[in-house]
Amino acid sequence: MKKASRIFVAGHRGLVGSALARELQRRGFSNLILTTREETDLTSRDAVDHFFQSKRPEYVFLAAAKVGGILANSRYPADFIRDNLAIELNVIDSAWQNGVKKLEFLGSSCIYPRLAPQPLKEESLLTGSLEPTNEWYAIAKIAGIKLCQAYRIQHGFNAISLMPTNLYGPGDNFDLQSSHVLPALIRKFHEAQAEGLRSVAVWGTGTPLREFLHVDDLASAAVFLMQNYDEPEIVNIGVGEDLTIADLALTIARIIGYSGKIEFDASKPDGTPRKLMDASRLHAMGWHHSISLEQGIRTTYEWFLANCECVRAVAN
Ligand code: GDP
Repeated sequence: MKKASRIFVAGHRGLVGSALARELQRRGFSNLILTTREETDLTSRDAVDHFFQSKRPEYVFLAAAKVGGILANSRYPADFIRDNLAIELNVIDSAWQNGVKKLEFLGSSCIYPRLAPQPLKEESLLTGSLEPTNEWYAIAKIAGIKLCQAYRIQHGFNAISLMPTNLYGPGDNFDLQSSHVLPALIRKFHEAQAEGLRSVAVWGTGTPLREFLHVDDLASAAVFLMQNYDEPEIVNIGVGEDLTIADLALTIARIIGYSGKIEFDASKPDGTPRKLMDASRLHAMGWHHSISLEQGIRTTYEWFLANCECVRAVAN
């Protein structure tokens, strides 16, 4: 990828895509091709073909996806599997048909079996049953990996796949019905502190373990792999450490300055008990993350205070 290459970041308004666009611009890649959902509906084959034929990107980061937390995934299984399969098939096939030099597909740690040995190694893919709360999304992401591998085998298309652990950071979704745990807890503790509430409800038992990667670190790894990796095997992207949801809640409460009670609502699902990534393949290539969880939560909270519509709505 050269500084003047035509680079398409699919999903540039999302958490991952926006971080990718920032990272590419920061590194001097000046020819980004971006398109909004209103301009190009990636679930429509005609729209995607028209986009590739007219814009002729050379490199593609496929970060567009329908995403959501544990509740949204279990409520809208059809939407999650349909939209993600459609986006992947349209973008990967059209990229190949239109002469793209290399495509990078972004997956998720939920592709691994629910009870796979921890930390999760790339080899665990398709060795057991998935976590039921997000299997629809996971199946679509597994199909994306297989599309990349199949197009490489049959057509020699240079498509690689990355599996990031749970991500967070500026641009995250803070809607309590559809968000992931980290932004949800930032919002809950912020509002509880502002309104003087005596307790905050955290979903589940607090015992599940999760690993969190700042999205700017993911963007750095994604550009690194676009430049340095050309193999069919998937690559995990993680930090190598996890913590319980209870500890995450305590950390966020401390950073925000909330000193009330934390209550666990066991009527809400825990999801998979643990999903720590084994990132040794990536580490062996020479890439390591640089943003600590503490530092990342602080900057994400600052972003939330400055940008979240929900904060503005209360302030106005
Ligand atoms: P997951 O990693 O795919 O399970 O997705 P989430 O980030 O949505 O949830 C991770 C864990 O955090 C689960 O055990 C949830 O029950 C728990 N959790 C605790 N409070 C919340 C909350 O307010 N929102 C969400 N999304 N999860 C929460």
